[in-house]
Amino acid sequence: MQLPALDMPVFQPGWVWLAGAGPGDPGLLTLHAVNALNQADVVIYDALVGEAILRCARPNAILEYAGKRGGKPSPKQRDISLRLVELAQAGKRVLRLKGGDPFVFGRGAEEALALHESGIPFRIIPGISAGIGGLAYAGIPLTHRDTNSCVTFLTGHNASGEVPDSLDWAAMVRASPVLVIYMAMKHLDLLVAKLRHAGLSGDRPAALVQDATLPQMRVLTSTLGRICADAQAAGIAPPALLVVGEVVDLHAAFGRSDLQATLNSSCQAAS
Ligand code: SAH
Repeated sequence: MQLPALDMPVFQPGWVWLAGAGPGDPGLLTLHAVNALNQADVVIYDALVGEAILRCARPNAILEYAGKRGGKPSPKQRDISLRLVELAQAGKRVLRLKGGDPFVFGRGAEEALALHESGIPFRIIPGISAGIGGLAYAGIPLTHRDTNSCVTFLTGHNASGEVPDSLDWAAMVRASPVLVIYMAMKHLDLLVAKLRHAGLSGDRPAALVQDATLPQMRVLTSTLGRICADAQAAGIAPPALLVVGEVVDLHAAFGRSDLQATLNSSCQAAS
């Protein structure tokens, strides 16, 4: 793929580049990610990296899937890290491509540590995280001067797949007027119950954004009290982000004004 006349880095054999692919729309790849796709011998990619992005790889590149597919268990993180090391040691230019940003709930840090421990040279290429760029496409700004001067990002799963129990939920909801929750669907009921128990009212604006930035993106706006029932009625499925806070109300103004698929696919909360 043609890149602007910039002085871009050369991908050396034996290196691993750990890159974010953004939330889905190939137009959100960074120039560094495209430069990596242009040169990599092997691309090890996750479930959240779509075909349109993989088509940007150079024609002879080997594409290796490292995610969960068809209900089969996902490869162990240790195995993925070992595979990166093995390929680099064999002199390949290895691109590890992850959805969003590799260091935002993406296990990028674990892989970078494994590379470091094995003495493999590597480079980190940040990507646009779904909780930032994806919400912008959905017409939900993360901040507005009138509503919030901070944002909190959290995950709905910890390492064992459960809602994080080490969080001080009450302190978090007191401190942060806007919450962005990744991996929100598996335990949506429990997450909402925790937020309500921590002090948030059922009237608090809340939204779910599924497949953000992709043509099939869906935006469900609701309230904390209704979001579980509305999500079920609308059939919202992963990957999705839960956003809680007044900024959700701005979707009414922004979600309809852009040229993306927002308007067509935006579904109103079932009442
Ligand atoms: N590293 C990624 C996050 C990986 S965790 C990033 O920075 O975006 C996986 C979670 O990210 C999903 O469960 C979902 O909550 C969120 N996510 C990733 N891509 C998404 C998308 N296109 N639309 C909605 N949510 C997305």
